[in-house]
Amino acid sequence: MKTVQDYIRTIPDFPHEGIMFRDVTTLFNDPRGFRIAIDQLLHPYAGQPIDKVVGLEARGFILGGAIAHQLSLGFVPIRKNGKLPGKTIEQSYTLEYGEAVMEVHDDALQPGERVLLVDDLLATGGTAEAGIKLIERMGAQVMGCAFVIDLPDIGGRAKLEALGMDVHALCQFE
Ligand code: 5GP
Repeated sequence: MKTVQDYIRTIPDFPHEGIMFRDVTTLFNDPRGFRIAIDQLLHPYAGQPIDKVVGLEARGFILGGAIAHQLSLGFVPIRKNGKLPGKTIEQSYTLEYGEAVMEVHDDALQPGERVLLVDDLLATGGTAEAGIKLIERMGAQVMGCAFVIDLPDIGGRAKLEALGMDVHALCQFE
């Protein structure tokens, strides 16, 4: 029986030479692959007191939307800056080369709400950390951070755990 990891395709030298890009579109493309990924991502959180699912652009929207539907919860997108139409709060974070900004509608979460944060892949943890900061600046609480893929050698899991986060990942690549 194929595992979640078996459905993920690796594309060498994308987007730059030397990068092994883990392509989850092949996981999303397969009905069984997509279903077991969603089931396994939400499994630790089913029955937990969670109010909202927050997804990080862009593949976190696909995963987070399906998880929110399955748990009968609302969904909140955290987007790259300039995409959301309403009033937002912004958080900058460091990329390999330079800085980027993520943002969220300032009324998308209420103080005290408990949140599951979702993305496809955890590398340095910089993107997830920016998401956590936005959620916490709104007075909400991150109950867990769920990823399909963890790249443990890059250190994102350690970074998020040092922030006190519960990190759940379905598979690892070196
Ligand atoms: P981090 O901020 O943890 O260094 O990088 C994670 C972010 O970069 C995630 O939003 C993820 O979608 C994206 N990312 C980086 N490398 C890959 C990759 O090899 N495959 C996929 N699917 N996403 C990646």
